[in-house]
Amino acid sequence: MQPEQWIDVTPEKFNYSLDHFVIPRHYENDLQSILIPNGLIMDRIEKLSRMIVDETEGPLVVCCVLKGGHQFFADLVSFMKKCVTKSGHNVPLSLEFIKVKSYENDQSTGDVKISMTDAELEDLAGKNLLIVEDIIDTGNTMVRLLKRLQTFKPASVRVASLLLKKTHLSCGYVPDYVGFAIPDSFVVGYALDYNEYFRDLDHICVINETGKNKYAV
Ligand code: 5GP
Repeated sequence: MQPEQWIDVTPEKFNYSLDHFVIPRHYENDLQSILIPNGLIMDRIEKLSRMIVDETEGPLVVCCVLKGGHQFFADLVSFMKKCVTKSGHNVPLSLEFIKVKSYENDQSTGDVKISMTDAELEDLAGKNLLIVEDIIDTGNTMVRLLKRLQTFKPASVRVASLLLKKTHLSCGYVPDYVGFAIPDSFVVGYALDYNEYFRDLDHICVINETGKNKYAV
C-alpha cells in the first residue's frame, strides 16, 4: 500500500483528551491520550474490507495473528462477509489462527515464537492467504512469519495490518493493507495489550508511565 492510501495519525490532527470519550474506570490513570477512537477504527476497517474483497478472486484463507490481532480480525471478517454478500463477489472465506509472541513489557525480545505445527502449516499449500495483524512496528515479526509461511508454498500471501508504526527501527516492510500509520509510541487497546492488560479497552490509546509501572512484569 502507498502512504497516501492510509490515514496518517499525527499528534496535531489526532489529539483526543481522555475526557472526550468513555474509558473503563480501571484504566483511567494509566493512559496518556486517546489516539484513535473506536468509531473511527470501525469506519476505517469497513473501507479496508471493501478494498480487500475488490482485489480478491476465489476462496481466501483469512489468518488471524493472535492475540493482538483478534479484534481487528473479527471486525474485518464481519465487514468482509457483508461486502461479499452485497457485491455478489465469489469469495468464500475460511478462517485460521496463528499465535505469535515477540514482546515483553514494551520491548521486542528479538525472538519470534509461532504456534502452528508443520502439519498445520502444510494445509496452507496452494491457498490464497490474508494475514491479519494488529500492528507492524520494526516489521521483524511479519518478515519472519512470511518467510516461514512461504516454505509451505501458499498460492499467494497478502497482509492487512490495522497499524503501522512510524519508527526509525523499521526494517522497511510495508503491508498490502494498512489502516493507520501511528507515531512511535507504545499503544494499547482494541485488543493490543501491555503484558495482557488493556485488551478490554475499545479505543487505541497511548499508555503512560503509571500504566507501564503498574502492569510491568
Ligand atoms: P515488530 O516485530 O513489528 O517490531 O512487532 C510486532 C509485534 O509487536 C506486534 O504484533 C505486537 O504484538 C507487538 N507490538 C509492537 N508495537 C506495539 C505497540 O505499540 N503496542 C502493543 N500493544 N504491541 C506492540
